[in-house]
Amino acid sequence: MTTKKIINVINIKNLQKSYKIGNSLLHVLKGIDLDIKEGELVAIMGSSGSGKSTLLNILGMLDLADKGKYLLDDVLIEGLTETTAANYRNQFLGFVFQSFNLINYKNALENVALPLYYQGFGRKIRQAKALEYLEKVGLKDWATHLPSELSGGQKQRVAIARAMASQPKVLLADEPTGALDSKTSNEVMSLIQQINNEGKTILVVTHELDIAHMCKRIVTLKDGVIVEDQNVDQVIVGNHV
Ligand code: ADP
Ligand code: MG
Repeated sequence: MTTKKIINVINIKNLQKSYKIGNSLLHVLKGIDLDIKEGELVAIMGSSGSGKSTLLNILGMLDLADKGKYLLDDVLIEGLTETTAANYRNQFLGFVFQSFNLINYKNALENVALPLYYQGFGRKIRQAKALEYLEKVGLKDWATHLPSELSGGQKQRVAIARAMASQPKVLLADEPTGALDSKTSNEVMSLIQQINNEGKTILVVTHELDIAHMCKRIVTLKDGVIVEDQNVDQVIVGNHV
C-alpha cells in the first residue's frame, strides 16, 4: 500500500513584516504561523489596517517578508530571482481584487485570455480557454462586452474567470466583495463556494463577518498576530446562475 503524504499547500512559520515610515518602523506582521491544506476555503479576517493585505501579498509573492519561512506547495519561497518568482506566481496563484483590475479597453474574453498570452498559449487555445471559463462563471453571452458595460458583480466574475483560467493551485482574493452590494456579494461568494467545492484551495481576505462565515475556516488577525483560528459551519449561499 502506498501512502500519500498530505502536504500543506501553504505553510508559514514566524512570518514578520514591517514598513519603514520616515525614521520609524511599523511592525505589521509580528510572527504569523499558518498552515493551509488543499481544498480549504479560508477567510482571513481582521479590522482595517490589521495587515490582511500585507499577509496576502506575501502569500501571493507580490511582496517579501522580512523574516520567517514560507513554503508554497512544498517549495521554499526565498531568494528567488524575479523570473523564477514570476513563474511560480503564474503557475501556483490566481488573484482577485476588490477593484477587479480589469483592463478597460479589452472585452471580457480578452481580459480572461490575457494572462494565458503571457503563459505562452497560442491564440486558439487562449480563446477556447477564456470562453470556457467565462461560461463557468455564467458570462459566456457577455464575452464581447467591455468592463464599462458590465455590473460590478459581472466584473468580479470576469476577474474570477481570469484567475481560474490559468488553473492555479490557490486562489487569493483580497476583499473580493468590498466594492459590491450585499446581494451581489452573495452571488460572488456563491461562485467562490462553487469553485471551492470543485476542489480549489481559496483564501478570502475580508473585514466582514458575514462574508467570513461563507468560508469554512476563519483566521483572525489582530495587532500583527493570529488571535483566532476556527473551523466554522459554512453558510451556503444559493447558486448564482
Ligand atoms: P488591511 O489589509 O488589513 O487593511 P494592510 O495590510 O493593508 O491592512 O496594512 C496594514 C498596515 O500597514 C496599515 O497601517 C497600513 O497603513 C500599513 N501599510 C500597508 N502597506 C504599506 C506600505 N507599502 N508602506 C507603508 N505602510 C503600509
Ligand atoms: Mg486590505
